[in-house]
Amino acid sequence: MTKILIAEDNPTNRELFRELLEARGYDVTEACDGPEALQMVEQTQPDLLLLDIGMPVLGGFAVVRAIREKPRLATLPVLAVTAYAMKRDRERILSSGFNGYLSKPINAKLLAEELDRLLSKRDDPKASPTPSQTESKLKKQAASAPGNDRN
Ligand code: MN
Repeated sequence: MTKILIAEDNPTNRELFRELLEARGYDVTEACDGPEALQMVEQTQPDLLLLDIGMPVLGGFAVVRAIREKPRLATLPVLAVTAYAMKRDRERILSSGFNGYLSKPINAKLLAEELDRLLSKRDDPKASPTPSQTESKLKKQAASAPGNDRN
C-alpha cells in the first residue's frame, strides 16, 4: 500500500487531506509540525510527503532542506502545499528541493494528478523525481530560505 505522510499544522486541512487521500486508497499518516514531520519520515518511511510550507517551529522549506541532506531521502517525492499564489513563490518552491506544488484551497483533481505524476515517476528507474539541479545550487538556495514561514 502506498504510504503518504501529511505534514500540516492546520487540523481542518489535515482532515481534508486525509479524506481525499484515503478515498484514493493511500495509507495516510499525519504530522502537525516540522520536527514531527522529520521524525515521522524516518519512522514510517512514506512513499511521498505532502508538506505544508507555513508551519510553526520548522516550516516546509527547512523540512525539505533537512530531508535532502539525508542521502536515503534524496529522492523522496515531496509535494509542497501553500496558500502562496505568487509566481515567484512557485519558482522558489520548485528550486528548493520540492518536486511539485499545490496552492490552497486544494483542488482534489490537481492533487490526484500530482500524486499520480510523482508516484509513477518514482517507479520508473529512468526518471528521478528530484529536480535536475546541482547539489551546490540547491544548498545555496536553501541556505537563503528562512525556516519559518507565513501561513
Ligand atoms: Mn500551515
